[in-house]
Formats: sequence, C-alpha cells, structure tokens
Amino acid sequence: MVKSPVERIGALVAMFLPIMGTLAAIWLAFVNGYVRSADLWLLFWMYLATGLGITVGFHRMLTHQSFRPTLPVKFLFLMLGSMALQGPAIYWATVHWKHHVHSDTDADPHSPWWWRGIDLRGFMASPWHRIKLRALAFWNAHMGWLFQGTIPWDQSDPVQQRFRRDALVVFMSRTFVVWVVLRFALCWLIGGLPGMLWGGCVAILLTQQVTYLVNSATHVVGWKDFDTTDESRNNPVVALLAKGEGWHNNHHKFMWSARHGLTWWQFDLSYVVIWVMQRLRLVSEVRLPKPSQIQAGVRRHSASA
Ligand SMILES: [Zn+2]
Ligand SMILES: [Zn+2]
Repeated sequence: MVKSPVERIGALVAMFLPIMGTLAAIWLAFVNGYVRSADLWLLFWMYLATGLGITVGFHRMLTHQSFRPTLPVKFLFLMLGSMALQGPAIYWATVHWKHHVHSDTDADPHSPWWWRGIDLRGFMASPWHRIKLRALAFWNAHMGWLFQGTIPWDQSDPVQQRFRRDALVVFMSRTFVVWVVLRFALCWLIGGLPGMLWGGCVAILLTQQVTYLVNSATHVVGWKDFDTTDESRNNPVVALLAKGEGWHNNHHKFMWSARHGLTWWQFDLSYVVIWVMQRLRLVSEVRLPKPSQIQAGVRRHSASA
C-alpha cells in the first residue's frame, strides 16, 4: 500500500530524529569535554527496557503469543515497545508476521536475498555485480525498506484481524505517539537536555539498529541448527545485542516458542525475563518446544553462510 502523508512523515521522523539527536549528544559531549555517568546509565536502562518492550512485548507476546500476560504486564510491555519508536504495535506485529509467512521470498518485507524481484541465491552474474546486488539487498533488508514509498500493510489486511480483536493493543497502537513523547519527557525530567538526547535519541538509534540486524544479518551470517524453508541463521553476536533474538534459526523453526536460545549456552535475556515473570505469576502458559521436538528438528550437519 502507498504510504499516506502521515505515514511518510512518521517514518522519516522515526529514522532521522534518533540520528540527529545522537549527533547532537556527541557534539555536546565534545563541547563539554565529558559525558555524565547519569546520562550513560539512562542510555543503558532505556536501551534495556524499550529493547525488551520490542523483544518480549511486540515480538514474543503480541506477534507470536508465546505466553499469556497479566493485564499490567501486557500494558507495560506494549508501552515499552511503543517507546522504542519502531512503529505502533499492530503495524510492527503485522509486518513481522508477514516476514514469517513469506520469509526470504519476494513477498518478504525485508529479505537480504531479494533485490528488485531478483532472487540472489544462485543468481548468475560477474562477481562484482553479485557483490553489489548482495550489498544493496542487505541494505534494503536492514533499513532501506523503511524508506520505500509503500508500506507492507493496509487496514484491510487479514493478518491484522487477530491483533485488532484486542482492545488494549488497538488503544496502544492508536496512542503510539503519546508513549514516544512520554519517553522523551521522562528522560528530560531525569536528565534535562543531555538526558533526553542519550536516553531518548541514542538509545532509540541503538535499539533500532539492533532490531534491523535481526532482519538483515541473521538471515545471512551464522549457522543453521534446524532445516527451515528460509535463510535464517543463529548468530551469537546479534543474540547478545538483541537480548536473545539472534538465535533466529531456532526462532524460525519454533516461532511460537517463548525461548529462542534453546541450549544452556545460547543466552537469551528475553526468555530470562519471561521465566522470572512466570515464577512471579505475572505471565502463564509459556510455550516451549519439547526436547523431542528439538531433537527431531536438529540438522545432521550445521552449515555456515
Ligand atoms: Zn527472520
Ligand atoms: Zn518472529
């Protein structure tokens, strides 16, 4: 669907405000000759909290219904996810669901294997031309698709109906801008202008880039523990940065699982948070693959990209 003027402006603000704010934060640091530790702590906690809003809230709770939250938990994580400035909850979940349904096909909203209708797997061209097209496709999967004049959803999209049946999800999506403004206001109250720049813009930029790495890098770099119909990979670096979301091949195999890191050494911070909330009876019906399901799906030989 062609973007409306509001969607076009919203996308540009979401892209450029964090970049401009980050440049301003760096410039202020140079002018002052230091960065206050309080601002860096604000950056850390906002990065952590709103990042979990995306991974636990928008992704595992809303899109994949990996667990059943209590109302306060649902509200909290939808609010934190909205504060990350990656779009309203229903938009985010719809686009991500489409990614799973059409993963690494021409209909995938962000596949690093497609460039303008060309499947780059096995594409015959000179080495330089192939490298160029792979780089363009990687950029498109990372951020480029956000700049396009079209948006991979519309109001009548049947994928959205599941999300639109939930009154709180609809409310949080409609009030998306309120939560973004609230985030900046909170950072301002805590740390003034530098606090707003570091806890607002810098933290948003980092959280966005980490989410984009899940869309781009974990479909190119890493290994496959499971055979899937897509190019998803397990990538420990992205897993660490993205709070467990880099175990992306595991996720594509068991997309309903609340846990993406499926072995003891595959650290998955988002699942740790869900596990703790389950112990505190804040969430229930946490969905996990059985050991027999994992064993049945494991590849005989893992392949690297
Ligand atoms: Zn994926
Ligand atoms: Zn997913």
